[in-house]
Amino acid sequence: MTAAVIPLSAPLLKGNELKYLTECIETEWISSAGPFVDRFEKELAQYVGAPTAVACVNGTAALHISLILSGVAQNDEVILPTLTFIAPVNAVRYVGAQPVFMDCDDYLNLDPEKLLEFIKNECEHRAEGLINRNTGHRIQAIIVVHVFGHPANLLPIIEIAKKYNLKVIEDATESLGSCYNDVNGQKKHTGTLGDFGCFSFNGNKIITAGGGGMIVTNSAESARLARHLTTQAKSDPLFFKHDAVGYNYRLTNIQAAIGVAQLEQLDRFVQIKRDNFLKYCEVLKNTEGVSLIIEPANATSNYWHYGLVVDAQKGVWSRNQLMTHLRENKVEARPVWALCHKQEPYRNCYAYRIEKAEKYEDTILNIPCSVSLTDEQIDRVVKMIRSKPNG
Ligand SMILES: *Cc1c(COP(=O)(O)O)cnc(C)c1O
Repeated sequence: MTAAVIPLSAPLLKGNELKYLTECIETEWISSAGPFVDRFEKELAQYVGAPTAVACVNGTAALHISLILSGVAQNDEVILPTLTFIAPVNAVRYVGAQPVFMDCDDYLNLDPEKLLEFIKNECEHRAEGLINRNTGHRIQAIIVVHVFGHPANLLPIIEIAKKYNLKVIEDATESLGSCYNDVNGQKKHTGTLGDFGCFSFNGNKIITAGGGGMIVTNSAESARLARHLTTQAKSDPLFFKHDAVGYNYRLTNIQAAIGVAQLEQLDRFVQIKRDNFLKYCEVLKNTEGVSLIIEPANATSNYWHYGLVVDAQKGVWSRNQLMTHLRENKVEARPVWALCHKQEPYRNCYAYRIEKAEKYEDTILNIPCSVSLTDEQIDRVVKMIRSKPNG
C-alpha cells in the first residue's frame, strides 16, 4: 500500500465557499467592490473585537499601509524580530526605511527584555525621537510578529513603545483566532492591542481567501486613511482627483466571498488545531530530543503551525536528518525560516545580540498541521519521529 503525501498545511473549503462564490458569479459582483467585501470587513472586525477593518489584497500590503500610517519615512528605522517570514521586513523597505533586528524569546517571539536592553544601551532619546546610536537614524515603529500563532509578550513592548513614542504594528498574519486572556477573564485578540493589526488570508494561513489581507486599528481616522490609500487615494472619485500616492490594494468580492465562508468556520478550525497539537504532545512527551513550542501562559494560541524543536544532543536525530527522513516518507516537513538579518538584502542592517534565534534556526521543524489532519496521519508522523536513523 502506498500512502498519500501528508501536506504541511492544506486549506479546507467544505463550508459555504462554493455557495458564496456562485453568488458572486450570478450577481456579477466579482471585482474590488461588492457585498462580500463589506461583509468580510464587518465580520472580521466583530470577530477580533476591533471597531473597523479595512480589507486589502494581502497581508504584506496591510503591513505596507500600516507602516505609512505609522509615519515611517525614508531613512527611519523599524524594529523587527529576525525570526519571521520575510514579508514584514520587505514592507519596511517599501517605505524606504531600514529594519533593526531583534532576538526572540522561548515562544519564538520578539524578546521584550532584549528590546529594552537595546534601547537603553544603544539608543539616545532626543527631541526628534529615539535615535539608534549605531546608525544615527530615528526609530519610528516596532513590528511584532505572533510567530506560528503564539501571542507575543506584547504588554511590555507596548509600554516601551509608549515611553519612547514608537508605533506598534502587530503582524497577526499567523495568529487570527489567538487571544490574550485578561485577568478578568476577558479575551483580547492579537492584532487589536497595537496601533495597527495586520491579517493575511493566504492559502497557508488558518483561514484563506485564496489571498487577501486586513488592517485593523482603533483609530477611526487611521482606518479612513487606510481605506483611502488602498483605493488610489481618490479625493474626488468622479473627476479622478487624487491627493496622495495611492495604491491598488483592494480585495476582490470573489476573494472576500471565500473569506466570509472561511471565517464562519474559524472557531472550529482553531479548536481542531489545538486538539491535534495536544495529540502530538501526548504521544511525543517521552521521546528524547524532541519538544513542541507551546503557547505562553495567559494566552490562547490558534496553533497555526506546530514547531518541533529537534535537539541532536539529546535525541537520535538532527533537525535536517529528521526532515529528510520525513520528506522521504511522504510527510511534508519544513525548517523554520532562515533568519532575516542574514538574508541577502538585509545582511548589512543592524542586528542586536541575536542568540536564541540562531539556535532555533537550526533546530525547528514544522510538522503537518492541516485542519483536515486525521489521527492515522498523526500516528504516521509520530512513528517516524520516534524511529531511529537507518532502522
Ligand atoms: C503570511 C505572512 C505574511 C504575509 O502575508 P501575505 O498575505 O502572504 O502577503 C506576513 N508576515 C508573516 C509573518 C506571515 O507569515
